[in-house]
Amino acid sequence: MPRQQELFAKPGAKRLKRAHVIDAGSLPDDSIGAVFGCRCGWFSGWVTVGSVAEAKKGLPCPVCNQERAQ
Ligand SMILES: [Zn+2]
Repeated sequence: MPRQQELFAKPGAKRLKRAHVIDAGSLPDDSIGAVFGCRCGWFSGWVTVGSVAEAKKGLPCPVCNQERAQ
């Protein structure tokens, strides 16, 4: 698999829990937005993403990953 630059994940951060895309689409300002949701119940709300492909990689869940870090 090709290596993709991870904007959020730090090297060595294994088992990063990621929220997956619930919805995605164009925002009023023509940028691409996506909504991420985690199984723990966390929702990102609409956030701007660089591309749909980027959105599909998921967004690290701040709730789950914070629990793991502590
Ligand atoms: Zn979570």
